Amino acid sequence: MDTLVSINVYAAKPANEPAIRRAMTAAFAEMSRLDSLFSAYRADSEVAKLNQATAAGVAITSDMDSVLQMAQWAAQISNGAFDVTVAPILQLWGFGTDSLGVPAPEKIAARMARVNYENLVIVHDLVNQKNSVTFRQPEMAIDLGGVAKGYVVDRGLAMLRQAGISDAMITAGGDLRTITSPLTVGRRYIWIQHPRPLNPARAFEPDGAANSFFGRFKLEGDAAVSTSGDYERFFINDNKRYHHIIDPHTGYPADRTISATVIAGTSVQADALATTLFVLGPQRGIALADSLPAVEAVMIYRNGDELKWEATKTLREKLEVFNQ
Ligand code: ADP
Ligand code: MG
Repeated sequence: MDTLVSINVYAAKPANEPAIRRAMTAAFAEMSRLDSLFSAYRADSEVAKLNQATAAGVAITSDMDSVLQMAQWAAQISNGAFDVTVAPILQLWGFGTDSLGVPAPEKIAARMARVNYENLVIVHDLVNQKNSVTFRQPEMAIDLGGVAKGYVVDRGLAMLRQAGISDAMITAGGDLRTITSPLTVGRRYIWIQHPRPLNPARAFEPDGAANSFFGRFKLEGDAAVSTSGDYERFFINDNKRYHHIIDPHTGYPADRTISATVIAGTSVQADALATTLFVLGPQRGIALADSLPAVEAVMIYRNGDELKWEATKTLREKLEVFNQ
């Protein structure tokens, strides 16, 4: 997944440490199994095989089915702002490869016909309990970078829960999810990284936090939180920033947002929604989050030279902003 994945487990003493370590090892094993299904970087991943498929009705695993269901839900509620079939355009920009660059506009235009989530059809054969995918256009491809990490976090956490662990956190880059017990309830904070810190080197000095963090909020209980931003994977060309979240309607990086943080019930949902809101921009993004039950969001964006932010009603009350 091209990111750091970490598991933290909390237990009251006396804790069964060997059992906890076994559970963590099992969770890592499950997460790396899923990485090998969803990876855009592995030639033998399930995604790679789907993208090479020429026939209709290619069988998919139930993990692939779950991720694609969430992807299609996000696409539908956002009128295609989230769209995993944007892969042919992502490949042109070269994110995840060594050859990053601004593609020729004709090349982008030529590939836009391949992008449309409505041409990705998932078929559930309930009788034989088999699922399959059909692309309704030639040369379509999918990229799960906007949703797979969240699913992987959910599965890792499920493994810990199954092993009886009652307090834990898994993070994978910008995605995290917690299980909360009385040990940590009301004691976890989410600190939102400042997207344009003045002096990141001073982050851990006494007053440095104000430079490096935009703000924070307290988690009340179990939660999944994901952030999508333009400041982790990007390149600068002629003073312009080009990053890895593409507006599927234009073929160019979405430019309405700097970062979108979403709280939701599951990590796969938070992940998909963070990317979705990022593309939609703050006005439509926050309105969408406000319309969804149990979803909160805060988005940072630019208005001229100024950084601004917008949050859903409930989160606005909980958010402490140190440094806008
Ligand atoms: P990350 O944590 O890797 O920054 P995000 O959840 O922010 O991931 O999603 C960005 C990734 O999603 C991109 O690297 C790409 O793989 C994929 N992607 C880019 N644009 C879109 C889009 N409009 N819809 C769905 N996926 C996208
Ligand atoms: Mg995402």
